[in-house]
Amino acid sequence: MKRKFDFYIVPTPIGNISDITLRAIEVLKEVDIIACEDSRVTQKLLNHYDIKTKCISYHKYNEKERVDSLIKILNEGKTIALVSDAGTPMICDPGSILLSELKKNNINITALPGACAVTTFLSQIPRDTEEFKFIGFLPKSEKQILDLYEENKYTNMVFYESPNRILKTLKIIYSKNHNLKIAIGRELSKMFEEIIVDDILNVINHFSNTEIKGEFVCMTFAQKNQELSYLKDKIEKLKEQGFKPKEISEIISTLYEVNKNDIKEILY
Ligand code: SAM
Repeated sequence: MKRKFDFYIVPTPIGNISDITLRAIEVLKEVDIIACEDSRVTQKLLNHYDIKTKCISYHKYNEKERVDSLIKILNEGKTIALVSDAGTPMICDPGSILLSELKKNNINITALPGACAVTTFLSQIPRDTEEFKFIGFLPKSEKQILDLYEENKYTNMVFYESPNRILKTLKIIYSKNHNLKIAIGRELSKMFEEIIVDDILNVINHFSNTEIKGEFVCMTFAQKNQELSYLKDKIEKLKEQGFKPKEISEIISTLYEVNKNDIKEILY
């Protein structure tokens, strides 16, 4: 059967090998080529599901060189699926260079829904608001982390972190804000999955003096702005002038760079 698309972006499990959709298995069986990061990793998955499709490597070190050969394969009328080692390609994984070239070449692309550490994490963390900002991996230097946190302290900031760096990162953020609530998802969908939602100091203590293992997703909860009372007068004036709450929220958040949810607390 001729497939509707030429190029498929296919999520694979982030820990539990059963976390793959029926459609993903079907596509991986039917395409001509699977472009994967590390063929040893992908081959384990393919063996498990008895998928015989040929793999070729596509990773961050050969992204540019591979583009032409993949486009050539597609122009021969063949189909390709892109997978990463785990989770959704393009989410902190390679694919961007290839995709922009495929689009220039009018290749029919589609993405399948599936496993991803960010969504698996966020779907089990209670929050006041839907809003969050996903950073990917945090920068390395202390200053860069502090600047980034400062920039995003009024939103739920979600990031990936390695076991080697997690404690150091938490301590850096703690130095900026002692009263922060954070959420951690460790080893999601795996045997030793751990979810923690607590004050940052308790989390630091939890991971101190122990060997830290596994993969991590973290979220710093949006800090409530304590100093918003100075905006009360301005909000009242806008109300008197007949602006609607939604408009006031828009104006104030734009002018004073304040989170709309915090404005709500004063508005109503
Ligand atoms: N493409 C993947 C996705 O869809 O989530 C992310 C790939 S990125 C190279 C790998 C990072 O994702 C890990 O270092 C970790 O921060 C996070 N991650 C992946 N699997 C995870 C899991 N099972 N539990 C917690 N974090 C995970």
